[in-house]
Amino acid sequence: MDSCIFCKIASGEIATSFVYEDDLTVAFKDLQPQAPVHILLIPRRHVVSLEEARDPQLLGHLLMAAKNAAEIIGLAQYRLVINTGPDAGQSVFHLHLHILGGRQMNWPPG
Ligand code: AMP
Repeated sequence: MDSCIFCKIASGEIATSFVYEDDLTVAFKDLQPQAPVHILLIPRRHVVSLEEARDPQLLGHLLMAAKNAAEIIGLAQYRLVINTGPDAGQSVFHLHLHILGGRQMNWPPG
């Protein structure tokens, strides 16, 4: 999608260093990290949110890719977050998983 910042990152239009990539996904550092390690994993293809997602294979792949990305960056313990919709805190409307680690996580999240 032309105006989508994460599409521009995935396509290379905005030069970004990927910490992990495969044929369907890329992962890169969050601009405003909320933990010592804060990575965003996105599908290369534009999907607005988890609510809009229709492809179970892609969703399964994203989970496996998150696990692979965490392993590559040396995280054995981490939290995955998918904010879905504005009330849940979604601010970029291209599906993404937050991979957070490197500190003790609290529960419940805010
Ligand atoms: P969410 O609030 O769940 O939609 O998460 C969006 C995340 O994208 C936030 O944590 C932002 O800090 C992050 N973000 C926005 N623009 C960029 C960017 N250009 N590069 C890296 N992270 C970004």
